[in-house]
Amino acid sequence: MPSTNAVTGRSVRAVAERTTDLLNALAEEDADAAALARVLRAHGETDPVTSDDVGRMRAAAYRIRAVLAAEDADSAAERINRLLARAHQPRLTDHGGTTHWHVHVDSRDDAPLAEWFLASSCLMLALLLTDRQRPPGGVCAAHGCERVFVDCGSGSPRRYCSRRCATRARVAAHRRTAVPGAAVSRPRT
Ligand SMILES: [Zn+2]
Repeated sequence: MPSTNAVTGRSVRAVAERTTDLLNALAEEDADAAALARVLRAHGETDPVTSDDVGRMRAAAYRIRAVLAAEDADSAAERINRLLARAHQPRLTDHGGTTHWHVHVDSRDDAPLAEWFLASSCLMLALLLTDRQRPPGGVCAAHGCERVFVDCGSGSPRRYCSRRCATRARVAAHRRTAVPGAAVSRPRT
């Protein structure tokens, strides 16, 4: 069945999922090279990760999170533009015939991981924003959760990082409204 999201096709969605997983992994205090390599491998990327890469990827993650934390499309666009200003001229690559053709805005196919992470993420966020004319993602609205998400859906804007957080928030909201009435025990007459 044809997708209603003509622009945000499979490759954009794949980068969205990878970016989200990397951002949430990098937000963990104990994120190290091995943990990041595991996340990358889960997305088919086998590049080795060094401890230098971790520090640089954390800095990149900070800037990408700022886009996802933007209140509206205007400020998200402004933040994406700041990242695109540091990106390289777009080019097509198939990594020497090993992948399908896709656009890169990093300097070269073997650019440092952090440069690739920032460049691929900001291009993906730019395409999503263009397609929907709304912020390309957000920070989870569930109490106490700071995980981020990229919104690839075509329905109403997403608010939670996961189904788990959405359910948790719904249950909490239900309790807030249901408990006060239920807790009042009626005096016997
Ligand atoms: Zn959450």
